[in-house]
Formats: sequence, C-alpha cells, structure tokens
Amino acid sequence: WKHAPAHFRALLEMSRFHGDKVFLVYEDEHLTFEDHFRRAATLAGRLVEEYGVRKGDRVAVAMRNYPEWVVSFSAALAAGAIAVPLNAWWTEAELAYGVRDSGAKVLIADGERAERLASTGVPLIVTRGEAPEGARRFEDVLGEVVADVKLPDVELSPEDPATIFYTSGTTGSPKGALGSHRNLGQSPMTVSYGFMRAATMSGKDPAAAASVRRVTLLTVPLFHVTGCFSGLTTTMFSGGGLVLMYKWDPEQALRLIEREKISTMIGVPTNAWQLMSHPDFGKYDLSSLTALGYGGAPAPPKLLERITENLPNRAPSNGYGMTETTALAIGNGGADYQAKPDSIGLPSAVVDLRVVDPMGHELPPGEVGELCLRGPNVIMGYWNKPEATAQTFVGGWLHTGDLAKIDDEGFVYIVDRAKDMVIRGGENVYCAEVEAALFEHPAVDDAAVIGVPHEELGEEVGAVIRPAPGASITAEELRSFLTGRIAKFKIPVHVWLREGELPRNPGGKILKTHLRREILGT
Ligand code: ATP
Ligand code: MG
Repeated sequence: WKHAPAHFRALLEMSRFHGDKVFLVYEDEHLTFEDHFRRAATLAGRLVEEYGVRKGDRVAVAMRNYPEWVVSFSAALAAGAIAVPLNAWWTEAELAYGVRDSGAKVLIADGERAERLASTGVPLIVTRGEAPEGARRFEDVLGEVVADVKLPDVELSPEDPATIFYTSGTTGSPKGALGSHRNLGQSPMTVSYGFMRAATMSGKDPAAAASVRRVTLLTVPLFHVTGCFSGLTTTMFSGGGLVLMYKWDPEQALRLIEREKISTMIGVPTNAWQLMSHPDFGKYDLSSLTALGYGGAPAPPKLLERITENLPNRAPSNGYGMTETTALAIGNGGADYQAKPDSIGLPSAVVDLRVVDPMGHELPPGEVGELCLRGPNVIMGYWNKPEATAQTFVGGWLHTGDLAKIDDEGFVYIVDRAKDMVIRGGENVYCAEVEAALFEHPAVDDAAVIGVPHEELGEEVGAVIRPAPGASITAEELRSFLTGRIAKFKIPVHVWLREGELPRNPGGKILKTHLRREILGT
C-alpha cells in the first residue's frame, strides 16, 4: 500500500473494494462505491489540471445532502486540497464569510447556494439548478468518467490538514476547525467502536452486528461532523449504504426506513423524538431498524424512555462530540444507557479526558468543572484564529467549554455549556437540567431555558415551552410539576408558551441567542 492508512486517499482507495455495492442513495438515485471512486478521482484530476489546485489549497463545498456533495468532498481531498464544507443554511453574507475566511480557491455548489456565492467572484462549479453567469456545470467539468481513472499524484502525510469544518456558532460566530488526515482517518474506527459497544450493551452479538451490512439514514447535514464522520467516512470504510435526505422530514424518514430497510438512524436527539411523535409512526414497517445513534445536543432522559417504549429491542446510543473532536468522543449505549440515562457515557476508544477547575487543576469524581479531552481525534486548531486556538488548546488538552462531572465508574455527565448556565444570585442553574425536568411533563414537546436579567439576583430562570400538539398547559401547572423534582431556585419564574418550533440550527441546538433576542429583546 502506497499511502499511510490514516489518510483519506487510503480510505478512498479502500472503499473501492466494496465495488458494485450501493454506497449513496438519494431519492431514486444510486451510486455504487465504484461509481463514487471514479467520479471523485476524475473530479480530483480536473481540479488539479484545470483549476490549478495544489496541496493545501482550499476547495469549498456548499450544498444540501446530494451525492455530489460526497463526490466533491472526496475529490478535494484526493487532489491534496483542504475540503471546506460550508453550511448550506447560511445566508449570502455568512457564505461570503466562509469563503473569505477559508480563502477558497474553487467553490462547488448546488444551484441555490451558487446564487448566493456568485458575488464572491471565486470560480464556481454548479450542480442541480441554475448556474450563475461565468459558472461551469458540474457534469461539464467532470466530462467523461473512465473506468481506469487514477488518483492525481500528490504526496500527503497523515499530519497534513484535510478539512475545515465550521462550528455550529451556538456561542458566537462559527470557527473553522482545522482537521488533519489522521483525525479523519481514525473516525471510522471510533464510530464503529461506539456502534459495537452499543450493540453489545444492548445484549446483541457484536460480531453478528458487525457482519450485517449497515444501511444508515442520515438525518443531519454532511457539513457538520456528525454527518460527515459518524455517517459518511464510517460508511465508506464499512461498505454500508448511506441514505441521504434533502432536509429532515419525519414522515419521509419513516417512508425511507421502510423502503430502504434502514438499519441505523443517525442524527440529533430531536430527529428520534419527532420520528416517534409523528401521527403515522405506527403505520410503517420499522423492523429493519436496529440502531439509533444521536448526539450533538443534550438528549433528555425522557427520550430513552420513549424509544424503549416505542422502538423496543433496538440499540439506542447517545454520543457526545464536537466539531473540534471530529465527531464522537464519548458515548453511552444499551444497558449502561438504561442504567444511567442522564450520562453521555464513557470515552471512546481513543480519548483521554479530565475535568478541571478554572485554574486547570484536575478535579476528583463528582465535582463539576470544565471537560477537557485529548486524543488523535482532536483537531489541529482553529483556522486563522491563533488567539482562540491558544485559549482552547492548552498543554495538549482541548478545553470543551462544557461543564461536566465524572462518577466513580468513569461515566461522564454534561451539566451545561459554561456559556449557557444561568447564575441566579450566585447560585448556578444548569439549563440542561431544568430542560430535562420539563421534558418529563407529557404536555411539553420542546423546551429551552434561558437567563432573564434581574436587578437583584443578576439573572432569573425563564423557560420557553412548546406544548405538545393538542395539549394545554399553564405556567402554574408546570411550576407545580417541577416542585420536588428540582430545587426551588431552579424552577422557572418566567414561562413563555409558544406555538411553532423553537429556532434550532442544523446541529439540533436551540439558538438561545435568537430566543433571547425574540423574547427579551437583548
Ligand atoms: P460553537 O462552538 O460555534 O459555539 P457548537 O459548540 O454548538 O458551536 P458543535 O461543535 O457543533 O458547535 O457542538 C459541540 C457542542 O455540542 C458540545 O460542546 C456540547 O455543548 C454539545 N453536545 C454535543 N453532543 C452532546 C451530547 N450528547 N449531549 C449534550 N451536549 C452535547
Ligand atoms: Mg463549540
């Protein structure tokens, strides 16, 4: 083998062994592993020859979850470039920021994104939909795809940068997370380990679970790490199938699980919740579904209860990860998860962790502090942001910005985001805890807890509630429900009932800055 294994080109070449098996499914379109390899290798060649792409140049991809997203991502990496997935939900100004910040040399986009990218003046390759003036069509750039195409000749080492993924921007503006080929190359192992562990802990034979061809329904965007690593690279490695959706839609998901005989659903906690809440949930044959993996945002313990009730004998798992950890870092599944539904579980195979005080000293079990992580999945740093890099990556440890504690058995509990916590008269109130308690109420479909400025106390606790369809609930009822479940000072003083969905980003996280602005005008 010419290339080091912890290397995207190795993964790409290896995926060829899966040959004519279907790799990507989008509506009625199917791409086999061989189809994907040929298209990616061909496009990589064009990027090098026609666009002058050289090692380390940035190639940005801005589209919905189309098969061309995957081909473009693979092509950029095979050409030696750094692949820059841009958030397809971004506005024209936000996309312009991504292009400017990454210094992209070529953009590959779908019609909708192309329109918003045209003003950047960067060469544009367009698929699906109108191509703005001066842009070239994807199929024209690709031209003839031949069977014996070779990857362009580029020397790459596992330490070379491979990707810039933008963080979700939950706590500020999105930061470009610079990941290496090694970060990317280890992702299938970390994720497969998590799945096997969840299967074992659910009483299933891990060898049998590993030998069944996994067909994954990807309910989240490829431009976030969950989609790309827990979904895409892991599927490439294992020879499974990846079923893509234009956007999340619970009814379509139910239809696809039945039609494509989906074995694994990957997404954020809200996806699993909404799937089970759909009025037609009982009408579909979901017997093929054996595993549900979710993460990226807090999963209320009530979710596990609902899965156990509505989808019994499956292997649910809750994974904790960040853009900075190349997706999965800590996970909980099966019997462990049933026993400790409020925990994110144990570190993945490659991760070291510790909880520290504000001075950086390690804390004993049970004490709340900042979670720090170390391992081959931790990225190289932030692109173009030396200060943020120096603050976040200290002495080889990634400071996650999440408050956590570890129990005597090593299980990790996310208490809250450090920036999310409400401080009421010097007393810390963890929003995630109050939200989990609110979710216990049957009339609560969604909940977000925010700090409300208060003259004397600094902040008071407020909750925005979306009632379940057809349910009616009052603030007083909710408060009496919470009494005895959580301490009095944590019970929301302000309750806003709101119809319609709470604003979430594609990572499944509630946009609390939007909510605060909307409700408090701050
Ligand atoms: P930004 O860093 O730009 O503010 P972000 O942190 O939301 O955005 P991501 O990297 O997508 O961007 O998300 C990582 C964060 O998501 C973690 O730091 C943690 O707060 C949260 N998270 C991820 N998985 C879980 C989980 N299973 N349970 C609770 N929280 C989770
Ligand atoms: Mg973050």
